[in-house]
Amino acid sequence: MQIIDGKAISQQIKDEVRDKVAALKEQGKEVALAVILVGNDPASTVYVGNKKKACAYTGIRSESFELPEETTQEELLSLIDDLNNREDIQGILVQLPLPKHIDEKSVINAISPDKDVDGFHPQSVGRLTIGEPGFLSCTPAGIIQLLKRSNIEMEGKHCVVIGRSNIVGKPMALLMLRENATVTICHSRTKDLKEITKQADILIAAVGKPKMIDRSYLKEGVVVIDVGIHRMEDKKLCGDVDFEDVKDMCSAITPVPGGVGPMTIAMLMKNCADSVSL
Ligand code: NAD
Repeated sequence: MQIIDGKAISQQIKDEVRDKVAALKEQGKEVALAVILVGNDPASTVYVGNKKKACAYTGIRSESFELPEETTQEELLSLIDDLNNREDIQGILVQLPLPKHIDEKSVINAISPDKDVDGFHPQSVGRLTIGEPGFLSCTPAGIIQLLKRSNIEMEGKHCVVIGRSNIVGKPMALLMLRENATVTICHSRTKDLKEITKQADILIAAVGKPKMIDRSYLKEGVVVIDVGIHRMEDKKLCGDVDFEDVKDMCSAITPVPGGVGPMTIAMLMKNCADSVSL
């Protein structure tokens, strides 16, 4: 059984980004990311801090906009408009979730598709759907990298994705399709879930339910990708998969922590660097 090392693979990607950013600098081109945080949600503050750290590591200049909770939608949209027009900013990231009085959809739609490094803009999603190049949603794109760099074949394999969210499940299914897998999407209204998951060669769990997937969902030899992240009462992290229960049935599996988690920020850095051509 192979434990897929997301920490090592994400480090590899960050190092590749650092090399590319350095090569761009030699040509006089700088890569800069604007990071917008509204309010002081503790988890979001940690995520934004980690993104800024990754920027510092890779040589991407990060410009931080930490706005008060009371910021109006108009004020936020006006900042995005300024950033869209600035030639010295290549990527714009708005940390989600936003305070309730701000409409997330309007904010995502306001970001110029050329600077949409999170890959959430409808144009980025549309490009992914019809197979044109564009920014890819970071977590699913990171999962493709985990599989490729672990030499796990996707072509012709039956990939079952559990979850259909716009940020994980749906783009994940589309990316697996692009890799020529045969894809099934399951969700909260799926009937006989286990009957379907037991057919999976590659199972991607993005359900948001701690340790829901135990061995009764799997066939022998499956590759399991666990997207879930949950903090348990004992403060330990766990995924959507019951790792200890399933590990001896899998040919490969991502652990939590240290699997999918570290890939998201690495792919964000890659999206930033890829927004500028060498
Ligand atoms: P979400 O709540 O938006 O979506 C969950 C999906 O699971 C839904 O589409 C729902 O239909 C499906 N679902 C719920 N209960 C189900 C059930 N009993 N059977 C089958 N399907 C069911 O969550 P999300 O934003 O897609 O995130 C999923 C998980 O991944 C969460 O644990 C989240 O914390 C984690 N996550 C991790 C990263 C990362 O960087 N590693 C990034 C994003 C999300």
